[in-house]
Amino acid sequence: MSVAINHPDIVEPNGTIGILGGGQLGRMLGVAAAELGLKCHIYCPDERAPAYDIAAKTTIASYTDQDALAAFAADVDVITYEFENVPAESVAYLTGLGAKVRPGAKALETSQDRLVEKQFVNTIGAKTAAFHPVDDLSSLKDGLAKVGRPAILKTRRFGYDGKGQTRIKTTETDLSAAFEKAIAFAWEEVGAAPSILEGFVPFEREISIIGARSKDGQIRLYDPAENVHRDGILKTSSVPATITDQTAENARAIATKMLQELDYVGVMGVEFFVLKDGDLIVNEYAPRVHNSGHWTQDACAISQFEQHIRAVAGWPLGDPRRHSNAVMENLIGDEAHNWRALASEPDTGVHLYGKREARPGRKMGHVTRITKP
Ligand code: AMP
Repeated sequence: MSVAINHPDIVEPNGTIGILGGGQLGRMLGVAAAELGLKCHIYCPDERAPAYDIAAKTTIASYTDQDALAAFAADVDVITYEFENVPAESVAYLTGLGAKVRPGAKALETSQDRLVEKQFVNTIGAKTAAFHPVDDLSSLKDGLAKVGRPAILKTRRFGYDGKGQTRIKTTETDLSAAFEKAIAFAWEEVGAAPSILEGFVPFEREISIIGARSKDGQIRLYDPAENVHRDGILKTSSVPATITDQTAENARAIATKMLQELDYVGVMGVEFFVLKDGDLIVNEYAPRVHNSGHWTQDACAISQFEQHIRAVAGWPLGDPRRHSNAVMENLIGDEAHNWRALASEPDTGVHLYGKREARPGRKMGHVTRITKP
């Protein structure tokens, strides 16, 4: 299909935001777009994606279907994504047609590969866990000698919510059969796929920062949130985080640098480990709205979702100031069945994603409790 796409620099009210990905993040982005008088077109391969309920238009097609991508690009005024595993080639194809894709290819590609991502973080002067690329058992052994034990082996690509990773705790010596068995098991666990080995970070807490950058380089940062994971999945995000002003300032400075260096347009989530002395280690970043920023819907005038839509539509960014303390709690699996009791709680925003089946480990919704207005 040959189409000439000419996306505007600024998407005005009644314009259409194209979103690649149809999960809960796409759904909440679409709701935020509607609040600004914008429509959204959701593109997703899944036939029953939660975002379709709120979309003006939908395309159900593979991310590599060039005809469908071209028709989608022709129908919208700008393209964004809610899912960082959109193939980089598809974004390159869309850009080649003349489409505006925000955030751009560099931010997406860097985040898709944990090795490239960590190297990027180090080049801007921020710290990461010690790491070593792993392509086979021999490089895994080299990695263990370099990063020490315990260590975490993670696939370079397509990991999320603790998937595609395994811990190596063995204290056996390198020459023992038990050591050989333990590392062979770890290598199997990640599917013998290109991976990186990370040294275990003895963190005191985990925090994240949600930041936004406009096409003109304006930057707005939300307050850092403190995150608690359960079984590798985010359980709660609380604001304010129990960190010093200096640590918060350092986290802001790192997020700012990342947004600038990636020439970023949109909202980004940066996850950090905080050490006992307050030092920060960057774990990873997501080139999209982030689960640890859901509290902004109820504790800020402008949510991360609206902020992202503003940024990609070329609008002025909103004030990220937090007007309340809050705790966001994910409703995972059966927990969302409790909606009636949750909806009766005072000062609690209830957000359900409209997913039909509550499978274990599946994010079904979240609540945000205002703890101090
Ligand atoms: P990730 O998929 O990289 O976000 O990792 C999921 C969770 O595993 C993190 O939020 C941490 O709680 C834990 N984790 C990941 N990497 C490390 C590490 N190098 N050291 C200690 N804990 C880690």
